[in-house]
Amino acid sequence: KGDPRLQAISDAIRVIPHFPKPGIMFQDITTLLLNHKVFKDTVDIFVDRYKDMGISVVAGIEARGFMFGPSIALAIGAKFVPLRKRGKLPGKVVCEAYELEYGKDCLEMHVGAVEKGEKAVVVDDLVATGGTLRAAIKLLECMGAEVVECACVIGLPELKGQNRLNGTPLYVLVEPT
Ligand code: AMP
Repeated sequence: KGDPRLQAISDAIRVIPHFPKPGIMFQDITTLLLNHKVFKDTVDIFVDRYKDMGISVVAGIEARGFMFGPSIALAIGAKFVPLRKRGKLPGKVVCEAYELEYGKDCLEMHVGAVEKGEKAVVVDDLVATGGTLRAAIKLLECMGAEVVECACVIGLPELKGQNRLNGTPLYVLVEPT
């Protein structure tokens, strides 16, 4: 914190009230992606943090984890593993049910995408209750990978997502006020 890039990142995120349901303040990162400098700074902050940690897996959560994860993976020399919603991955999958701030779903990962003992970081745009990250951690751990940290652009601290991660560290860049 105290990094001047973080204010620009925060400023580049658009808030859309009552999407997709009444009462949800939707944090829209597509406006961040439109600004090359801010987009690059966002990726660079994660890359600087994870580049020398022996991480061989960046797992991105559908859909907005796919917008940051592959760039981080390429820059740190890791593979990218997509964690997708139910029924989207064509091969044999492991799945884990989870609840969202607005609905229920199931997260899936291809069998064979990670090997036992690999070090992973899980990437998504936002952590709210932590239910989605919790499911992602379970998928990776059930295949024998170690989740070193979860990385999100935005955290909603009042929902205490960190508490649902069973001790896996959570790193967030900005928290809306
Ligand atoms: P949760 O499982 O409760 O931590 O919810 C996190 C997931 O839901 C992430 O994949 C987010 O993209 C999405 N999400 C939840 N709340 C919001 C929000 N207020 N704005 C944007 N995305 C959200």
